[in-house]
Amino acid sequence: MTDQDSAARLAAIHARIRAAAKQADRAPDSVTLIAVSKTKPAEAIEPLLAAGQRVFGENRVQEAQEKWPALRTRFPDVELHLVGQLQSNKAADAVDLFDAIHAVDRPSLVTALAAAMEKSGRRPACYIQVNIGDEPQKGGCPVAELPALLTAARAAGLPVIGLMAVPPLGVEPAPYFALLAKLARDHDLPGLSMGMSDDLDTAVTLGATAVRVGTALFGARA
Ligand SMILES: *Cc1c(COP(=O)(O)O)cnc(C)c1O
Repeated sequence: MTDQDSAARLAAIHARIRAAAKQADRAPDSVTLIAVSKTKPAEAIEPLLAAGQRVFGENRVQEAQEKWPALRTRFPDVELHLVGQLQSNKAADAVDLFDAIHAVDRPSLVTALAAAMEKSGRRPACYIQVNIGDEPQKGGCPVAELPALLTAARAAGLPVIGLMAVPPLGVEPAPYFALLAKLARDHDLPGLSMGMSDDLDTAVTLGATAVRVGTALFGARA
Protein backbone atom coordinates (compact mmCIF):
# COMPACT_ATOMS: atom_id res chain seq x y z
CA MET A 1 0.00 0.00 0.00
CA THR A 2 1.18 3.51 -0.66
CA ASP A 3 1.19 6.21 1.98
CA GLN A 4 -1.81 7.73 0.23
CA ASP A 5 -3.81 4.49 0.42
CA SER A 6 -3.10 4.26 4.13
CA ALA A 7 -4.10 7.84 4.77
CA ALA A 8 -7.32 7.31 2.78
CA ARG A 9 -8.19 4.13 4.67
CA LEU A 10 -7.52 5.84 7.97
CA ALA A 11 -9.72 8.78 6.97
CA ALA A 12 -12.48 6.38 5.93
CA ILE A 13 -12.44 4.65 9.33
CA HIS A 14 -12.54 7.98 11.12
CA ALA A 15 -15.52 8.96 8.96
CA ARG A 16 -17.33 5.75 9.95
CA ILE A 17 -16.60 6.40 13.63
CA ARG A 18 -17.86 9.99 13.32
CA ALA A 19 -21.05 8.93 11.55
CA ALA A 20 -21.86 6.22 14.09
CA ALA A 21 -21.05 8.48 17.03
CA LYS A 22 -23.29 11.19 15.61
CA GLN A 23 -26.13 8.73 15.20
CA ALA A 24 -25.84 7.80 18.88
CA ASP A 25 -25.35 11.39 20.05
CA ARG A 26 -21.85 10.66 21.20
CA ALA A 27 -18.65 12.69 20.83
CA PRO A 28 -16.47 11.10 18.09
CA ASP A 29 -13.38 11.63 20.22
CA SER A 30 -14.85 9.39 22.91
CA VAL A 31 -13.85 6.47 20.63
CA THR A 32 -10.22 5.38 20.33
CA LEU A 33 -9.19 3.71 17.09
CA ILE A 34 -6.79 0.83 17.72
CA ALA A 35 -5.03 -0.12 14.47
CA VAL A 36 -4.51 -3.88 14.74
CA SER A 37 -1.20 -4.50 12.97
CA LYS A 38 -0.82 -8.22 13.77
CA THR A 39 1.01 -10.16 11.01
CA LYS A 40 1.88 -6.89 9.26
CA PRO A 41 5.54 -5.92 8.89
CA ALA A 42 6.98 -2.57 9.94
CA GLU A 43 6.84 -1.36 6.32
CA ALA A 44 3.06 -1.74 6.37
CA ILE A 45 2.81 0.11 9.69
CA GLU A 46 5.01 3.07 8.78
CA PRO A 47 2.50 4.71 6.39
CA LEU A 48 -0.14 4.74 9.13
CA LEU A 49 2.35 6.29 11.54
CA ALA A 50 3.13 8.87 8.86
CA ALA A 51 -0.61 9.56 8.58
CA GLY A 52 -0.75 10.30 12.31
CA GLN A 53 -2.10 7.05 13.78
CA ARG A 54 -0.51 6.39 17.17
CA VAL A 55 -2.57 3.63 18.85
CA PHE A 56 -1.80 0.09 17.65
CA GLY A 57 -2.85 -3.42 18.62
CA GLU A 58 -0.98 -6.71 18.43
CA ASN A 59 -2.18 -10.18 19.40
CA ARG A 60 1.13 -11.90 20.12
CA VAL A 61 3.73 -10.78 22.63
CA GLN A 62 6.70 -12.13 20.73
CA GLU A 63 5.69 -10.59 17.41
CA ALA A 64 5.20 -7.23 19.11
CA GLN A 65 8.62 -7.51 20.79
CA GLU A 66 10.18 -8.05 17.39
CA LYS A 67 8.42 -5.17 15.62
CA TRP A 68 7.75 -2.34 18.03
CA PRO A 69 10.90 -1.36 19.96
CA ALA A 70 12.54 -0.07 16.76
CA LEU A 71 9.41 1.77 15.61
CA ARG A 72 8.96 3.25 19.05
CA THR A 73 12.40 4.82 19.13
CA ARG A 74 11.19 6.93 16.17
CA PHE A 75 7.61 7.35 17.39
CA PRO A 76 7.88 7.45 21.20
CA ASP A 77 4.26 8.53 21.60
CA VAL A 78 2.94 5.23 20.22
CA GLU A 79 0.46 3.46 22.48
CA LEU A 80 0.50 -0.33 22.19
CA HIS A 81 -2.47 -2.56 23.08
CA LEU A 82 -2.45 -6.34 23.45
CA VAL A 83 -5.66 -7.65 21.90
CA GLY A 84 -4.95 -11.40 21.85
CA GLN A 85 -4.92 -14.25 24.33
CA LEU A 86 -2.13 -13.98 26.88
CA GLN A 87 -0.32 -16.94 28.44
CA SER A 88 0.55 -16.44 32.09
CA ASN A 89 4.23 -17.10 31.41
CA LYS A 90 4.25 -14.09 29.04
CA ALA A 91 2.59 -11.75 31.55
CA ALA A 92 5.84 -10.01 32.55
CA ASP A 93 6.83 -9.40 28.93
CA ALA A 94 3.36 -8.07 28.19
CA VAL A 95 3.44 -5.68 31.15
CA ASP A 96 6.84 -4.39 30.01
CA LEU A 97 5.76 -3.78 26.42
CA PHE A 98 2.08 -2.88 26.35
CA ASP A 99 0.15 0.17 27.53
CA ALA A 100 -3.14 -1.72 27.66
CA ILE A 101 -4.09 -5.40 27.89
CA HIS A 102 -7.49 -6.43 26.49
CA ALA A 103 -7.30 -10.12 27.36
CA VAL A 104 -7.62 -10.60 31.11
CA ASP A 105 -9.88 -13.64 31.21
CA ARG A 106 -8.99 -15.96 34.11
CA PRO A 107 -7.83 -15.92 37.74
CA SER A 108 -4.37 -17.37 36.99
CA LEU A 109 -3.69 -14.53 34.56
CA VAL A 110 -4.87 -11.95 37.12
CA THR A 111 -2.31 -13.35 39.56
CA ALA A 112 0.48 -13.35 36.97
CA LEU A 113 -0.27 -9.79 35.81
CA ALA A 114 -0.48 -8.48 39.37
CA ALA A 115 2.91 -10.01 40.19
CA ALA A 116 4.45 -8.60 36.99
CA MET A 117 3.08 -5.11 37.69
CA GLU A 118 4.31 -5.23 41.26
CA LYS A 119 7.78 -6.15 40.05
CA SER A 120 8.07 -3.68 37.15
CA GLY A 121 6.11 -0.75 38.54
CA ARG A 122 4.31 -0.47 35.19
CA ARG A 123 0.52 -0.57 35.25
CA PRO A 124 -1.00 -1.07 31.79
CA ALA A 125 -4.76 -0.49 31.67
CA CYS A 126 -6.65 -3.79 31.77
CA TYR A 127 -9.83 -4.92 30.09
CA ILE A 128 -11.58 -8.11 31.16
CA GLN A 129 -12.28 -10.18 28.04
CA VAL A 130 -15.77 -11.66 28.15
CA ASN A 131 -16.84 -14.68 26.12
CA ILE A 132 -19.98 -12.76 25.30
CA GLY A 133 -21.65 -15.52 23.28
CA ASP A 134 -20.55 -18.22 25.77
CA GLU A 135 -18.95 -20.11 22.86
CA PRO A 136 -17.13 -23.27 23.97
CA GLN A 137 -14.05 -22.79 21.74
CA LYS A 138 -13.56 -19.11 22.44
CA GLY A 139 -11.28 -17.21 24.82
CA GLY A 140 -12.70 -14.87 27.41
CA CYS A 141 -14.33 -15.23 30.78
CA PRO A 142 -17.80 -16.85 30.77
CA VAL A 143 -20.48 -14.23 31.37
CA ALA A 144 -21.53 -15.91 34.63
CA GLU A 145 -17.97 -15.76 35.98
CA LEU A 146 -17.42 -12.07 35.25
CA PRO A 147 -18.40 -10.75 38.71
CA ALA A 148 -15.98 -13.10 40.50
CA LEU A 149 -13.13 -12.41 38.07
CA LEU A 150 -13.64 -8.68 38.34
CA THR A 151 -13.63 -8.87 42.12
CA ALA A 152 -10.40 -10.87 42.01
CA ALA A 153 -8.78 -8.45 39.55
CA ARG A 154 -9.70 -5.44 41.63
CA ALA A 155 -8.54 -7.13 44.83
CA ALA A 156 -5.21 -7.90 43.16
CA GLY A 157 -4.84 -4.22 42.29
CA LEU A 158 -5.10 -4.50 38.52
CA PRO A 159 -6.14 -1.22 36.90
CA VAL A 160 -9.29 -2.62 35.28
CA ILE A 161 -10.89 0.04 33.09
CA GLY A 162 -13.32 -1.91 30.95
CA LEU A 163 -14.61 -4.98 29.15
CA MET A 164 -13.61 -6.44 25.81
CA ALA A 165 -15.39 -8.97 23.60
CA VAL A 166 -15.45 -10.50 20.14
CA PRO A 167 -19.05 -11.50 19.33
CA PRO A 168 -19.84 -14.81 17.61
CA LEU A 169 -19.02 -14.87 13.90
CA GLY A 170 -21.71 -14.68 11.26
CA VAL A 171 -24.61 -13.46 13.37
CA GLU A 172 -25.93 -10.00 14.09
CA PRO A 173 -23.48 -8.55 16.65
CA ALA A 174 -25.76 -5.83 18.12
CA PRO A 175 -27.29 -7.95 20.93
CA TYR A 176 -23.81 -9.01 22.03
CA PHE A 177 -22.46 -5.46 22.00
CA ALA A 178 -25.53 -4.33 23.94
CA LEU A 179 -24.99 -7.08 26.51
CA LEU A 180 -21.32 -6.15 26.95
CA ALA A 181 -22.33 -2.50 27.40
CA LYS A 182 -24.87 -3.47 30.03
CA LEU A 183 -22.32 -5.60 31.91
CA ALA A 184 -19.86 -2.69 31.87
CA ARG A 185 -22.53 -0.33 33.23
CA ASP A 186 -23.55 -2.81 35.93
CA HIS A 187 -19.94 -3.02 37.08
CA ASP A 188 -19.08 0.69 36.83
CA LEU A 189 -16.54 0.20 34.07
CA PRO A 190 -16.13 3.09 31.61
CA GLY A 191 -14.19 1.22 28.89
CA LEU A 192 -15.82 -0.86 26.15
CA SER A 193 -13.43 -2.49 23.67
CA MET A 194 -15.69 -3.82 20.94
CA GLY A 195 -16.08 -3.54 17.17
CA MET A 196 -13.75 -4.60 14.35
CA SER A 197 -13.50 -3.85 10.62
CA ASP A 198 -16.97 -5.16 9.73
CA ASP A 199 -19.01 -4.09 12.72
CA LEU A 200 -17.34 -1.05 14.28
CA ASP A 201 -20.29 1.15 13.28
CA THR A 202 -22.75 -0.93 15.31
CA ALA A 203 -20.28 -1.12 18.19
CA VAL A 204 -19.83 2.66 18.32
CA THR A 205 -23.59 3.15 18.19
CA LEU A 206 -23.86 0.86 21.23
CA GLY A 207 -21.15 2.59 23.24
CA ALA A 208 -17.72 1.29 22.19
CA THR A 209 -14.90 3.44 23.57
CA ALA A 210 -12.22 1.50 21.67
CA VAL A 211 -12.59 -0.19 18.29
CA ARG A 212 -9.99 -2.68 17.09
CA VAL A 213 -9.52 -2.44 13.32
CA GLY A 214 -7.12 -4.51 11.24
CA THR A 215 -8.31 -5.53 7.77
CA ALA A 216 -10.01 -2.25 6.90
CA LEU A 217 -6.75 -0.39 7.55
CA PHE A 218 -4.06 -2.82 6.40
CA GLY A 219 -5.85 -5.04 3.89
CA ALA A 220 -6.41 -8.78 4.28
CA ARG A 221 -4.05 -10.85 6.38
CA ALA A 222 -2.22 -13.80 4.80
C1 LIG B 1 -7.42 -9.43 14.52
C2 LIG B 1 -8.25 -8.83 15.59
C3 LIG B 1 -9.00 -7.67 15.34
C4 LIG B 1 -9.04 -6.96 14.01
O1 LIG B 1 -9.93 -7.64 13.17
P1 LIG B 1 -10.30 -7.11 11.70
O2 LIG B 1 -11.53 -7.87 11.35
O3 LIG B 1 -9.14 -7.44 10.83
O4 LIG B 1 -10.54 -5.65 11.80
C5 LIG B 1 -9.72 -7.16 16.41
N1 LIG B 1 -9.74 -7.75 17.62
C6 LIG B 1 -9.03 -8.87 17.88
C7 LIG B 1 -9.10 -9.48 19.23
C8 LIG B 1 -8.28 -9.45 16.87
O5 LIG B 1 -7.61 -10.58 17.14
